[in-house]
Amino acid sequence: MGGRDATMVLLDENGIRCDGRKVDEPRRIMIKAGGLKNADGSAYIEFGDNKILVGVFGPRDVHPKHMSNTDTGILRVRYHMVPFSVGERKNPAPSRREIEISKVIKEALEPAVMLDKFPRTAVDVFIEVLQADGGTRCAALSAASVALADAGIPMRDMVAACAAGKVADTVVLDVNNEEDQAGQADMPIGYMPNLEKITLLQLDGVLTSEEYKKCVQVGVDGCKIVYDIQKKALQDKYFGNGGD
Ligand code: ADP
Repeated sequence: MGGRDATMVLLDENGIRCDGRKVDEPRRIMIKAGGLKNADGSAYIEFGDNKILVGVFGPRDVHPKHMSNTDTGILRVRYHMVPFSVGERKNPAPSRREIEISKVIKEALEPAVMLDKFPRTAVDVFIEVLQADGGTRCAALSAASVALADAGIPMRDMVAACAAGKVADTVVLDVNNEEDQAGQADMPIGYMPNLEKITLLQLDGVLTSEEYKKCVQVGVDGCKIVYDIQKKALQDKYFGNGGD
């Protein structure tokens, strides 16, 4: 954030954004359930120009053993960006940002997963960001939910995620990379539509209390759009002809 390109028009006089979208329009979203034969569950998502692959393994034994919990299963999440996922080569060593995003995605998924059903074991979620274009944590979280469902992990609901934000003094849905860099606020939201519960809410930027409420509403509406696409991905694999 902070005006990288002050000359860019983020919102024109007709309410059209820099990538041609309306204020309440998400980027193109495509989700495929399955695809990785060595994983217990997997999913691939394209969210605008973000391209992310998720593999889920488990429930399986925990190593080292002392990390296991006799009362409940544990969820472990690794969010990783491949070096060519951004314009300038990313250092392959885990960055502070990747460690933070791994943690927030894990905490956003935990309320959805019935961890008490598989004590002493772990479920591992590996997220590989192949191409990043703003909003990778939301796209990764949405794909991780589908991959967990694909692995047959018992869940209370799926977490769908989408960001809202403030651009040119206007609340918009699904902030892209340019808007994130030059806009005023970015609020990633993870939401379980069936349970009507928010499991991720972050805010980078400054909002009035009215704008804050509007962002939450717009973001939750975006999550509902993502949720329909997540369900369709699973339906296509298990009941349609998209199976493999
Ligand atoms: P999110 O991807 O969830 O929006 P951030 O707000 O931290 O997370 O990042 C915004 C965008 O900045 C990313 O989606 C990516 O396109 C870009 N980005 C992140 N890390 C790097 C990096 N090391 N080099 C170049 N661009 C990056």
